[in-house]
Amino acid sequence: MNTEQQVGTATGHRVLVLGAGFAGMAAAIQLAARVEDREDVRVTLVNPQERFTERLRLHMTATGQPTAEMSIPELLEGTGAQFVRGWVTAVDADARTVRIDDDRVLRYDTLVYGLGSVADTAAVPGVEECAYTLNSPRDAEQLADRLARLGRGTVVVGGSGLTGVESAAEIAERHPGLDVVLLGRQEPGAAMHPRPGAYLRAALERLGVRVRSGVDVVKVLPDAVELAGGESVAADVVLWTSGTRVSPLAAVAGLDVDDRGRIVTDTALRSVSHPDVYAVGDAAAIRQGYGVMHGTCQGGMPTGVHAAVSIVRALEGKQPKPFRFGYYHTPVSLGRNDGVVQFTHPDDSPRRLYLTGRAAARYKETVTASPWPTYGRMKKMPASGAFWPRGGRFTRVREAR
Ligand SMILES: Cc1cc2nc3c(=O)[nH]c(=O)nc-3n(C[C@H](O)[C@H](O)[C@H](O)COP(=O)(O)OP(=O)(O)OC[C@H]3O[C@@H](n4cnc5c(N)ncnc54)[C@H](O)[C@@H]3O)c2cc1C
Repeated sequence: MNTEQQVGTATGHRVLVLGAGFAGMAAAIQLAARVEDREDVRVTLVNPQERFTERLRLHMTATGQPTAEMSIPELLEGTGAQFVRGWVTAVDADARTVRIDDDRVLRYDTLVYGLGSVADTAAVPGVEECAYTLNSPRDAEQLADRLARLGRGTVVVGGSGLTGVESAAEIAERHPGLDVVLLGRQEPGAAMHPRPGAYLRAALERLGVRVRSGVDVVKVLPDAVELAGGESVAADVVLWTSGTRVSPLAAVAGLDVDDRGRIVTDTALRSVSHPDVYAVGDAAAIRQGYGVMHGTCQGGMPTGVHAAVSIVRALEGKQPKPFRFGYYHTPVSLGRNDGVVQFTHPDDSPRRLYLTGRAAARYKETVTASPWPTYGRMKKMPASGAFWPRGGRFTRVREAR
């Protein structure tokens, strides 16, 4: 039998935030802190786990390294916001309801959709059945367990993007007895300036990672991967990091989505088809002057903060301001003691400036550790969350409606 959970007062405004990833968490804590004293606004955050997932550390989890316990309900304590543990199974954008896996139905007046993205395991046959992913802490732990038991053998990392690079480096460093092969279409670090790109490839070589770029994986088997052209590469373990996909829930709900299923937003981050739905983080297709943003933590947190501020403005009868964001860096870990930080222009193109070695590793660790304390600061001082690079001339864009 369905039960309906009341997540707001009968006369109050119910804001439901879906997903406590980097973006959803930023939205929830920012909003909770800003409406703490208002009796007429109720904030509810839905997430499958109480523990916050530091997704940027999942390649560390996959190599058996412990990560800190961070409790979402504890962070929300004292703000009046409510935490609901559950997996969203449906959104009814017309009735303004959300169903979760225990059949509870949550009502909202404003929805913040932050369900993130996962590695695309559907694009290549066999990935779903035979490959490991870093899609959740549980997936990463299963890989850690397998690697610990393997001893000797070959680990193929599919996908030469930055998650693939960081994972291959981490596995090679932690398991020197394993043969690590990184396969992908692009050369690792291809988007970087030539020098940091070359540094990154040399570091992989030093760690013993065998890189094969310019290859297309067409099938994953229990003991090998098959490349376009028919070649087969033996693999005891395959980790899949290539491509991303988002939950189909938004499309099924009838929200306007792009060709990758991400919610298309206006400049204020509201769904263009359902303005009572804000979309944040990887699940949103957010257009800036340089194009549609790609999924990152550095861009995801500001989207969450901006959505929260916009909701408060709307509640006060004000117009939300346009969202603007410019990228500023790409920090990449290469094991625990090495790394590359490529500084970027606001459109994410590489600048000449970069860091390498231990300084880069320290920089990366500082960045990785920063979201949780940032949420803590926002809880006490919401305005502290509003500092991010707006992108200058790169992000000046007129409303397209
Ligand atoms: C190993 C790795 C390293 C990375 N390193 C970097 C980096 O160095 N820098 C960087 O900027 N980005 C990095 N990224 C990308 C970054 O993690 C994502 O861009 C970021 O997590 C997106 O934030 P988000 O809040 O949109 O989504 P997520 O962080 O994915 O959060 C989504 C949340 O929604 C929940 N959820 C999903 N579906 C449901 C459902 N149906 N019901 C309820 N809850 C649901 C999830 O459990 C999760 O808590 C990395 C990613 C990986 C995998």
